[in-house]
This record gives sequence, structure tokens and C-alpha cells, in this order.
Amino acid sequence: MKDTNKHKGLRNQLVSIIKNKGIEDENVLKAIANVPRHLFMDSGFVDFAYKDKAFPIAAEQTISQPYTVAYQTELLEVKNGDKILEIGTGSGYQTAVLIEMGAKVYTIERQKELFKKTNLFLPKLGYNPKRMIFGDGYKGLPEEAPFEGIIVTAGAPFVPKPLLAQLKVGGRLVIPIGEDIQVMTLFKRTGVKKFEKHELGNFKFVPMLKKKN
Ligand code: SAH
Repeated sequence: MKDTNKHKGLRNQLVSIIKNKGIEDENVLKAIANVPRHLFMDSGFVDFAYKDKAFPIAAEQTISQPYTVAYQTELLEVKNGDKILEIGTGSGYQTAVLIEMGAKVYTIERQKELFKKTNLFLPKLGYNPKRMIFGDGYKGLPEEAPFEGIIVTAGAPFVPKPLLAQLKVGGRLVIPIGEDIQVMTLFKRTGVKKFEKHELGNFKFVPMLKKKN
């Protein structure tokens, strides 16, 4: 499967939609315009790739809605060269958006099947994360810390302490917190022991689970 002008046109329409919903960061919009989302979807859903909707991927997981990806990415305030940790690689779409923005991405996935699939797939499209890890996102990635940004793409029942500890001073953690519905939460590390917490809109994610399988 490949990328065509038709797909590019559909992506530009998608960018208009998420712009109308309030996304302003030009670099985020540019990344959404560039990443061929249809290639990240299972064949049955390809026709819907440029709708602003979430869809199933393997292992009962979902590729997040483009607006949600854009919203979380905007909150991260990604700058070229930033070291970013992503929890929940899934299809690799969010990973690709971050790489488009010049981030050095470390990404963790707990589902073996998805990990294997995305590990092979992303480099084929020319997206090379610094590391893809099969592991438990609750622990973060202490050996690569600190990070300028950490993004959690599954619904967390609480904020895992190691993620806060692995932020650089000045860094940002974007995490949806809650069981059934999640509140998008932004933590800014303003000092070694100081964090600012901002609670933003409600979202619905697949749950962040313990243990690998
Ligand atoms: N960023 C992904 C979204 C995938 S959905 C994308 O753009 O497609 C959330 C993902 O988080 C799922 O793949 C799920 O398996 C993974 N996940 C859930 N709990 C996790 C944990 N504790 N550690 C790492 N990944 C986890």
C-alpha cells in the first residue's frame, strides 16, 4: 500500500477539522498532514483513516482519534531534538507524529503482538524511534531518563510516580487519568521537587494495564 495525492488531500481536510476543534500548534498540524495514517490501520478500516475517529488495531487496542493525538502532542510542546518517552506504542501513529516533529522517541508497549508488528512496520515507513521497548509503562524507562516530555496514550488509573521522577526540570507529562472516563492531565516539573498540575478535558482511552502479555 502506498501514499497518494488523494490521501494527501484527505489529510489536509483532516487538518482543517482538527484546526477548527482548536489545535493551533503549526508543527503539530504539519505532522498530522504528513503522517500517512491509512498505512497504520487494519485493511478493513483504511477508508476511514482520515475521519476524526479512533479505530480498532490488533490485540483489542485502538489507534487514537487524530484530534486526541494532536491535543496531547500540543500539550507536550515538542521542540526539535527533544527526548520524548511514549507509553503505549500501539499502531505507532503517535510515535510517527512525534518523530515528524523532530523528537527523539523512546516508546514502550506491553502487548507482545503489537510490539512486534509496530517494531517491524515503523522503520519501513522511515520512522525510526530511538528505542522501542516491550515492557511495562508504569515503570517508565529509568535508564534513559530524564525526558523533556512523557506522553501516556492509555487511560491510567493514577499517575505512576516513576514517570514524574523521570521528567527533566521544565519537562511535561501528558497523561489521561481515570477509570471509565479520563481527565487529560498535564504535569509540569517546575523544580526538582515542584510540579504544577493542570486538569483539562475529558477523553476515553483503552485502559493502561499492569503486566506484559
Ligand atoms: N499511541 C497509540 C495508541 C494505542 S492505544 C497509537 O497511536 O496507535 C494504547 C496502547 O497502550 C495499547 O497498544 C496498549 O497495549 C498499550 N498499553 C496499555 N497498558 C500499557 C502499559 N502498562 N505499558 C505500555 N503500554 C501499555
